[in-house]
Amino acid sequence: MPKRKFKYFPMVIASPSGGGKTVVRSGLLKLNKKFAFSVTCTTRPRRPGEVEGKDYYFVTVPQFLKLRKEGRLLEWAKVHGNYYGTPVKSVMQVLEKGRIPVMTIDVKGARSVKRIFPEAVTVFLLPPDLKTLVQRLRGRGEKPENVAIRLETARSEIKVASTFDYLVINDKLPEAVREVAAIAELETRKINRNLDKVRAFGSELARKRF
Ligand code: ADP
Ligand code: 5GP
Repeated sequence: MPKRKFKYFPMVIASPSGGGKTVVRSGLLKLNKKFAFSVTCTTRPRRPGEVEGKDYYFVTVPQFLKLRKEGRLLEWAKVHGNYYGTPVKSVMQVLEKGRIPVMTIDVKGARSVKRIFPEAVTVFLLPPDLKTLVQRLRGRGEKPENVAIRLETARSEIKVASTFDYLVINDKLPEAVREVAAIAELETRKINRNLDKVRAFGSELARKRF
């Protein structure tokens, strides 16, 4: 990732499947214009209603492998048999516009982003309990075998939650959205993200006689 000074940083939201990444992302985008979705690419078939370039960039496996080989992906992962990856360009375009890229990616991908891009803020989302997660997966219309696969994957995902910066419990959706927005707001106040302002103040102070 090129070392450049941007106003904001990526907000990476990860969770076991069904944890609420997609709905929390929509909530954030509605809440404040500073949040923007950074579209990722996938080799999985398009679902009814999904729009190319809005939900995903749908690519073939050879196209995906080419992007990966050319170093155009910030991170990638194979999730439930399909490739997913974040184009560097998607994230950079949002940062260049002075907005916060919201990355809703799988748990492994989130950890890779943090390694490559330590300024990124990582949020782990969890429903209030396992029963709720199962209900939400079923409610989303997942077949029983798909629910089982996602819960199996959740076992290993939960184990690495401690590597994330924040935990948000997605019980009441509006509250979860507000909490993620509040985390972003507080992160902008971190002193090490604002040293240029402190230095500017300091240089002005040094030049003046009182
Ligand atoms: P993910 O993108 O992490 O796989 P989704 O955002 O698709 O998860 O959420 C899984 C399902 O649970 C969806 O049907 C969504 O509408 C529902 N859901 C998510 N969060 C809540 C919530 N706080 N209250 C009620 N339903 C929720
Ligand atoms: P779905 O196929 O249900 O849209 O997504 C499956 C999983 O892949 C979800 O956990 C989703 O967040 C994740 N995902 C989507 N895009 C990316 C990406 O670019 N990179 C990674 N690592 N995971 C992604």
